[in-house]
Amino acid sequence: AKESGKNRYILYDASMNKDFTERMVLEKHLHTAMDNNEFELFYQPQLDLGTNKVTGLEALLRWNNPELGYVSPVKFIKVAEDTHLIIQLGEWVLIQACDFLSHLHKQGMTHMTMSVNISPLQIFQADFNNKILKILEYFEIDPRALELEITETLLIESFDIVYEKLKQLREKGIGIALDDFGKGYSSLSYLKQLPITTLKIDKCFIDNVSIGMENKTITRHIIKMGRSMGMSVIAEGVEHTEQLEYLKKYECDKMQGYLFSRPLPKGEVEKLLSGLMTS
Ligand code: C2E
Ligand code: CA
Ligand code: CA
Ligand code: CA
Repeated sequence: AKESGKNRYILYDASMNKDFTERMVLEKHLHTAMDNNEFELFYQPQLDLGTNKVTGLEALLRWNNPELGYVSPVKFIKVAEDTHLIIQLGEWVLIQACDFLSHLHKQGMTHMTMSVNISPLQIFQADFNNKILKILEYFEIDPRALELEITETLLIESFDIVYEKLKQLREKGIGIALDDFGKGYSSLSYLKQLPITTLKIDKCFIDNVSIGMENKTITRHIIKMGRSMGMSVIAEGVEHTEQLEYLKKYECDKMQGYLFSRPLPKGEVEKLLSGLMTS
């Protein structure tokens, strides 16, 4: 294996070969996936814990390839980033998500928000902000209804550029969520300086809320800190009522997870939302 100390100098072995081949295969199919309409967005509801109402959706990308079947975004996003395909793909995601959001607004769900995952490479594009603003304008969406989910890796890479761009988007009213909070090299100084509106507690803490005392404590303190900084705090990956109770007890603002709903295709999520409206 790769880490077998003494043999570290070996640059080529069976497992590397397999990883490499898998990446090559993914890359080959990714190049044609867009033209072949193999991508689809699923949407996962975000529930407000104070009102028990769905206030927003997170758009999550799905790729169904005729040869490979469903490929997890965890695998293909990385390849799409390395090949820069993510720029085109990310724009497609924004357009689809905004199209659907404007449709929902027209159905009377006027307060619904849409959260979209953004890759660092997208933000680094010189025309990123303009593109976003144009898309919002085209679909006649109030910027306050869009939230961009970013991760900390983005901030470490080039703080100044990112800071300026996010500030400008925030001034227009667009929300900025810090995704996977607590998992990486979270620097609290970023939190203070950046125009972040939502803190998304990483799933790993929520997973273990039912087990470990430490995770409970961490979760509770993230909620407290985020709220005291005027941010909305959302927990992701909530699967059990026990977790939900804990989050409610410590006044977490929102939750997202299988307990309420899995990510759904747009037809299904619309049905779910309409049902909730009339009930
Ligand atoms: P993420 O942004 O942290 O998204 C949360 C992941 O947790 C999603 O996986 C979601 O389906 C899953 N999830 C939600 N609730 C639960 C739950 O209760 N239990 C469990 N076990 N899982 C839950 P998914 O859809 O496979 O996406 C994985 C990652 O791929 C995302 O992590 C995000 O980083 C990336 N991704 C997905 N769509 C996009 C996209 O459009 N653009 C970019 N740049 N990245 C994306
Ligand atoms: Ca996310
Ligand atoms: Ca996350
Ligand atoms: Ca993640």
